[in-house]
Amino acid sequence: MKKKVIAMSLSITLATAGVGITPSFAANGPDVNGNETVQTAMLTTYKEMKSFLQKEDVKQEQMDLEVIGETNEGREIFLVKYITNPDNPTILYLTQQHGNEALTTEGALDYIRHLGSNSKKNQKMLKHVNILILPMLNADGAMGDVNFSLEDHVASGRHLTRYNANRVDLNRDHVKKAAPETKALHENVLQKYKIDYMIDMHHQGTQEDYNDRYTTGSLLTPQNPEVNSVVTEQSKRLATVLYQGLEPLGWTHIFKYDAPTSKPNVASNAMALQYDIPVILFEMRGMADNSYEPYVLGQKSNGYLTKQAFLAMQETSEAIADGSILKADSGVYEQLPEQNYNY
Ligand SMILES: [Zn+2]
Repeated sequence: MKKKVIAMSLSITLATAGVGITPSFAANGPDVNGNETVQTAMLTTYKEMKSFLQKEDVKQEQMDLEVIGETNEGREIFLVKYITNPDNPTILYLTQQHGNEALTTEGALDYIRHLGSNSKKNQKMLKHVNILILPMLNADGAMGDVNFSLEDHVASGRHLTRYNANRVDLNRDHVKKAAPETKALHENVLQKYKIDYMIDMHHQGTQEDYNDRYTTGSLLTPQNPEVNSVVTEQSKRLATVLYQGLEPLGWTHIFKYDAPTSKPNVASNAMALQYDIPVILFEMRGMADNSYEPYVLGQKSNGYLTKQAFLAMQETSEAIADGSILKADSGVYEQLPEQNYNY
């Protein structure tokens, strides 16, 4: 309770000041219990995303846009590709398997925009790494266009839900691949491209903390005992690179995810088990909408979390391009404490 009062008074101070909201303050920003109304109107809609990707595809020489399938309700699923040399290592960023975990996609769209900026740094990086981005896998859930009621969800405006239109949790469907979204991901991405690294991007609740400060994100490598040990080691290096890239900023607060599972049907185990892909789960603070209020984060925190998603992609792409990931110390990830879970 104390924490919430502090978070609220900070946000009031900042709102009064009106300027200079630094991520270090915003990073402990209010959850919904801070009495903020949760508006989802500023989140990119599927239609806006589609139009953005099509425009960038025309504008950006190095970018290709592929439709890999359709959601249950007939929305095209897009794969954004930067492939300069098939021999380069390739990383796949996957966002919004859970439709209510939206800022991962906002960060991905910012990263796509950034990759089109033609800076020397980008040009150099893209010569040495192939980047695949699959934003908003669960577009039906993201748009609340589902075959069940979302009346109990707390956000104002469009509702967003974890599940696909037929109430399938896509991140428990990686063995059966029963949903059209998961099937398309496996058949037209994972089985078609040689992928060397992957980050599966999610949002957790709002109350996870460490040392009395809310965590901004948490990391987890594959947990299933059947995963090849080389794949596990490379996954830990990927986690280390993300952590070491973001922690020095000061406003991120990243720890190990507190609820590890060895289930083979979740992406962070399935990709390692089925394709030997080094993979990490990256969970960011707070969901855009949910029926359970403590999971939902107010939109005042959108800015820093979107930035965190963007930087997670940028830091890992660069470490793969310059080869520093090969020398990363997996012990850094191993020694990260688990965040606390407070519900
Ligand atoms: Zn999730």
